[in-house]
Amino acid sequence: MKLTFIPLKFSKTSSKKENKYKEQNNYVLNKIVSVPVSSYGNIQLNGISDNYFKAKNYLDNAKKDFDDINNIEIYDLDLNKLDGIQEGIKVFKGLNMKEIAFIGSTINEVAINRGCHNVCSHCYAGANPPIREDNNHINKMSWNDFKTLTDGFKELNNRLGFPITRDIMDDDPYMTSFHDADCIDIKLKDNEGNEHDFIDIALRLKDSFGKPQIFDTAGWSPNDKKAQERAEKYAEYYSDPDHFDEISDFNISLNPYHVLHTREVSLRKGGNIEKAEKFRDLYTTRMANVFFTFTPLLDNPKFNIIARAADNSSKGTEGYREQDLRNLYNDICTKLEKLYQNDYNAEKRIITDKRSIKQNIYSYKRLLGYINTKPSISERLNKIYSPENSEVKRTNIIISKSRENIRSATNIHNILNGETIKLNAYETAYPNYAGLVDSNGRYYITNYYTTYPTELQLNFENKDKQTAPIHPYLNEDLPIKKTLINSL
Ligand code: SF4
Repeated sequence: MKLTFIPLKFSKTSSKKENKYKEQNNYVLNKIVSVPVSSYGNIQLNGISDNYFKAKNYLDNAKKDFDDINNIEIYDLDLNKLDGIQEGIKVFKGLNMKEIAFIGSTINEVAINRGCHNVCSHCYAGANPPIREDNNHINKMSWNDFKTLTDGFKELNNRLGFPITRDIMDDDPYMTSFHDADCIDIKLKDNEGNEHDFIDIALRLKDSFGKPQIFDTAGWSPNDKKAQERAEKYAEYYSDPDHFDEISDFNISLNPYHVLHTREVSLRKGGNIEKAEKFRDLYTTRMANVFFTFTPLLDNPKFNIIARAADNSSKGTEGYREQDLRNLYNDICTKLEKLYQNDYNAEKRIITDKRSIKQNIYSYKRLLGYINTKPSISERLNKIYSPENSEVKRTNIIISKSRENIRSATNIHNILNGETIKLNAYETAYPNYAGLVDSNGRYYITNYYTTYPTELQLNFENKDKQTAPIHPYLNEDLPIKKTLINSL
């Protein structure tokens, strides 16, 4: 049975680095049964019931109906009959196959770390600095929960014989290891105190979910030595063509909305020009260092600058317009040129040939060719922009109509297929939903304008811990109920 499923329209590429990490899966073992399963290898399961064997028989027979196993997606199968195939996999305890299929079909963001110090006003995820951790609160996933998640999906995919996350219509899939965090800060310590950085985490996620990760950063303070060390490591690692395919994109986020520039704009509006100039200097110095550090990545085709700003003619957006961003960019490139010259005159760490200074600056200027002037309006930006701004109005219409759609949804495919939202007589928006696993295992879906909690939660050791609120515009009054997810 092939159900109509319009895929989530994200982009990106495929990859090759497989099986780098082969660690013991942490399935619960009570009564250990060695189950010879020829196509999946020998697996050990506890407390296994008839459901597993029935599901496996159904799966083996169902696969015979497909000419090519590479064409199977999870919703092609009868999920009632497949229920049980997940038995013994710790992360899925308490979830049935319809619920797991919903997560597998939508999962796009794994919130490893929660919170960000950049506090960009355009941040769709409304990131604030990380909350303080205590007995009841966490600001990151535990290493055990990260392993439970990645090991669990890997094992399920092995049992299925195809990745549950597969969408055959998406030829350029990707995922992110963040929701409201900057990738320069993504790192986890394991139980032995070893730190796992973005490279390691991205490889493990790709190995389990079959999708390369995006690296996004809005930069770091040049005084943050540890962040600088990580950045230099990433620049070296991802400038090696052998590693190009491990990620889908490596992005610098450059925009007038960073907290340092937002402060500049507000100080300038208040007439405090001297202090405004200090904040401008802080931001442009910081970004010049980011560009300098990532210069080795200019040859990586996955290296991009993500630039967002308000349209030059849009109302109530002074200080945040495309021209303001281009002016910032010119200041940053002037400082970058000085950094290159200093490097050439001293260490020659990045610049060994003086001619490359102009070439690199030219390459960076080319990367800023396109500026997105129609981003969704975040909760913070909504308070800064005039209510008359056309993008504010557009975002508000999408949120309101999305709520109507969710309220009237009678079948989970109403959600999986995405939304059609008529904005006016000429314009229609087609937002799709992406799933988000919070650090405590709670599952949400977002169309990047507004967010809905679901009644699903993965079986994490920290499932009872609280995290910072999820944005944008969390509709706590409209949860995606299990009854809807099971309505097939
Ligand atoms: S947009 Fe990115 S860098 Fe800026 S606050 Fe949000 S998560 Fe942080």
